[in-house]
Amino acid sequence: MTPPAGSLLLALLLSPAALAAQDSLATVVRAARMLDVSTGRMTSPASVSVRAGRIEAVGGAVPAGSRVLDLGDVTLLPGLIDLHTHLTSDLSTPDWVAEPVRGTPASWALRGAMNARITLRAGFTTVRDVGAGGFSDVALMRAIDGGLIPGPRVVPSGHAIGITGGHCDATGWAPGIAEQGPETGVADGPESVIRAVRYQVKHGAKAIKLCATAGVLSFEGSVGAQQMADEEIRAAVREAQRHDLPVAAHAHGPEGTLAAVRAGVASIEHGSVLTPPVLAAMKQRGTWLVPTLYLRQAIRRDLLPPPIRAKMDEVTPLMDRSFRLALRSGVKIAFGTDASVFPHGQNAREFAVRVKLGQTPLEAIRGATLYAAQVLGVEDRGVIARGKLADLVAVRGNPLRDIGSLERVAFVMKGGEVVDVTPPLPAPMAVVVRAARMVDVERGAVVSPGVVVVDSGRIRSVGGAGIPADAKTIDLGDLTLLPGLIDAHTHLTADYNRGWELRPAQETPGDRALRGARNAGITLRAGFTTVRDLGASDFADIALIRAIADGWVPGPRMIPSGHAIGITGGHCDETGWAPGVLQRGPEQGIADGPDGVMAAVRNQAKYGAKVIKICATAGVLSHDATVGAQQLSDA
Ligand SMILES: [Zn+2]
Ligand SMILES: [Zn+2]
Repeated sequence: MTPPAGSLLLALLLSPAALAAQDSLATVVRAARMLDVSTGRMTSPASVSVRAGRIEAVGGAVPAGSRVLDLGDVTLLPGLIDLHTHLTSDLSTPDWVAEPVRGTPASWALRGAMNARITLRAGFTTVRDVGAGGFSDVALMRAIDGGLIPGPRVVPSGHAIGITGGHCDATGWAPGIAEQGPETGVADGPESVIRAVRYQVKHGAKAIKLCATAGVLSFEGSVGAQQMADEEIRAAVREAQRHDLPVAAHAHGPEGTLAAVRAGVASIEHGSVLTPPVLAAMKQRGTWLVPTLYLRQAIRRDLLPPPIRAKMDEVTPLMDRSFRLALRSGVKIAFGTDASVFPHGQNAREFAVRVKLGQTPLEAIRGATLYAAQVLGVEDRGVIARGKLADLVAVRGNPLRDIGSLERVAFVMKGGEVVDVTPPLPAPMAVVVRAARMVDVERGAVVSPGVVVVDSGRIRSVGGAGIPADAKTIDLGDLTLLPGLIDAHTHLTADYNRGWELRPAQETPGDRALRGARNAGITLRAGFTTVRDLGASDFADIALIRAIADGWVPGPRMIPSGHAIGITGGHCDETGWAPGVLQRGPEQGIADGPDGVMAAVRNQAKYGAKVIKICATAGVLSHDATVGAQQLSDA
């Protein structure tokens, strides 16, 4: 970014006035070039006028009073779309195999919050998420759409649907340990498959993902064998069509791919083993191919269990061949990556792999814009044109000549809002913080000046002694230093704003965790570096403390209590519901009698509580009649 554009960007990012005014004010984005993906022509110079989240005009005069954002020597493109991601998982971590038995919907959602942020910064303003546990992808969509956390527009599919013991089941576990059903996407027989589809749709899926054949990253024997029966695939497609949702079919081997194509799926994902008859059928039916080619270069082979590594080695040489065959056959090809198999944010590396194998840069870019929108069945994005969503990216250079330029986006706008794409700086080891004054809270004195030497995350000295040679100085000027503030009573995963009363029966653990992520961020920015969290459902607070500790989301140090402990029908129980709804036991902190209370305490400690919260008396924000009556008995 040239300095003038950079400072303008910064002003746009920081100014609350800019945010407040954005509905009424137009923003004009100017750039040296713009790629019209429909015609394939490069326009120069380019000017796009944006208002209220949509593109108002392309080219033409600058509306009076509008804000001009001159990006300089860059190429504007429509916001990129990745049709095959799994935001809530990371197979680049060594413990991914244990996720079905260690992960929770709350932890998946929080991991998704990190990956959503990274993916948006990489220029992807829309992603389809093709398989996530506990509706954590739906929670992500809601949190992003609700403005709680940054991220791309998410098109979630809920749980991927496949057979018992198949690629999309949790395999490798003892009987009874990680058994699944239609609700979590594992279904046998057309009726069960229909139930699985309906359940995903009921709980927010905007696309349906099928695991038509065996896969690589799972423990069944084959890589490409057909898994779902023809009639099961047909039943799923017909049901999805009734909801007007496109079906994406994971398919490697030719038999299963052909069965999926004949059943009428919208897209074949991966398509690693394509044959001329399969390609002919795809072409005839207009089935999209969504290959995922970059992953084989990026996957950490050393982290794969040996049986999976063997399958990987078997299928990868076939992928290039299939892609070349597909190019020659003229089937429709759109863009997907399987991000999660490789680190999120590297999605754009898929472009160069495709171009190297013979796809033109323009067709590769269309796959992630114009064509991807068609696969999703949406008309509001994928091109830069009047009336479309104001989702834009800019790259330095000309991506038609240098496809790798898409890996280094210089500018991202989503819905008219500029996204901060500056990479976070690594924190220096040693820092000297200087300020005009410092409060010594122990002595009750104000010291002047305040000088604090910080090394490796700890205060090394106060007053200026022993400053390391490599220390970076932060001079705060006329400010007063205090210790980081501590709030001993918060509930980060809850908000008592409009709609709070029904949320216990409406929110998923993922929703709660992401609400917590938003509140953790704003609490830290308000100066609170430590909080006690006194009462959260589903151990969303425990998931949050881990997410903060691992750097997934910013937030204060947390001392979580898990569920608050109280009596049946008391302040910390769920009251006001019909009998049987949200009925709580010691696991959820509701206990009667000393034995029950002990069980409640032990359950909170077992799952990570660092403080125990008890509801000794009645309260205000609950449906028990009194405000102050004793509830937990002395015993
Ligand atoms: Zn996948
Ligand atoms: Zn409280």
